[in-house]
Amino acid sequence: MASEDAASEALSFSGLSTLSLYVHLPFCRRKCPYCAFYSVVPRRGEIDACLEGLRNEIVLWKDRSGFLPPLRSLYIGGGTPTLLDRRQWELLISLLEGAFSFDRTAEVTVEANPESLRAFHLRLWGEWRVTRVSLGVQSLDDDELRLLGRLHDGRGARESLAALAASGLAFSADLMFNLPGQTLKGWHRTLREVLAFGMDHLSLYDLTLEEGSAWADSPPGGRTSGYPFYRWAQWYLASRGFFQYEIASFARNRRWSRHNLAYWIRSPLLAIGPGAWGFCRERRYGNVDDLGGYLGEVAEGRLPLSAGECLLPERAFREAALLALRTAWGIPFRLFARRYGKAALETVLDALKGLPDGLFAVTDESLALSAKGMRVANAIWERFL
Ligand code: SF4
Repeated sequence: MASEDAASEALSFSGLSTLSLYVHLPFCRRKCPYCAFYSVVPRRGEIDACLEGLRNEIVLWKDRSGFLPPLRSLYIGGGTPTLLDRRQWELLISLLEGAFSFDRTAEVTVEANPESLRAFHLRLWGEWRVTRVSLGVQSLDDDELRLLGRLHDGRGARESLAALAASGLAFSADLMFNLPGQTLKGWHRTLREVLAFGMDHLSLYDLTLEEGSAWADSPPGGRTSGYPFYRWAQWYLASRGFFQYEIASFARNRRWSRHNLAYWIRSPLLAIGPGAWGFCRERRYGNVDDLGGYLGEVAEGRLPLSAGECLLPERAFREAALLALRTAWGIPFRLFARRYGKAALETVLDALKGLPDGLFAVTDESLALSAKGMRVANAIWERFL
């Protein structure tokens, strides 16, 4: 606990030239059984209280860090940010605009769910500085959506995708595979239909049973292996012009998520809101994942930190290598050695020796996972750590 406290004490975003911001809005209409993110069903007044809490938290970070550089990326996620009504969105926008400056080319992403996305969201975001919307589609199949406990059906998802396509905003869809009873044919149908809406970005997730989710204790039957779904999607999306730039992420026209890349290359990430996780200079922190506790802390003038960890050098370079290997660009030798030392780079490369060549794409300058390597990444991580 002492080292956690020390890590939290030393945590500061001062002296940086670049910064990404994550805002966690921890509200959902209903909890999905596979989800382990912190979110609650909002009671009356709680969303407004949370927005006030965010305002207070930003002031506390500014007091701690002094000058904060312009934001290179902003991601407003959750939870379900589209649960905020127009007034609440205007409030959030005005508090972010008042507190931060933005790079001219800043990427601003908002997460949306089909059952609560409204025309006013799209108008407001288009008039503000939102550059991309990430829609939680998961599936277009009504039975699969019901099983996942989602509040939308295939029709609702299609309507939201059509509204996004008409809005002119860039957008992405989250989809899930390896669902109970799912067939490759059904997976193909969902992918093909989603792509017809013209988005340049997709995130694909294997249904995993995360600790802390309802399904972790009582998993649903009927799942097999995610491997064939994933392998098929790699082939299909490549044939449609998509570049797999990360294990779960595919983009065309270079529309990758710069915010997510900041996370994988360990750029400084200020994260605010209950249950949010941030990172800066080999220090990781987590906010209190309880709305009441979070609000109490910030109201009393304390940063709402519940966990803080200063990564020891060995841990820092291993985690950095693992995160870099998630991306298509992999580990850039020169940059990695400059940041963590030549010995660290050699340790990483040694750990990967002996694995089959076909798992990697190696040049003089970098080492990355091949498409095949991405399919077996979990086995590589185990050996690696
Ligand atoms: S999966 Fe998304 S909508 Fe479902 S509970 Fe989690 S954050 Fe909320």
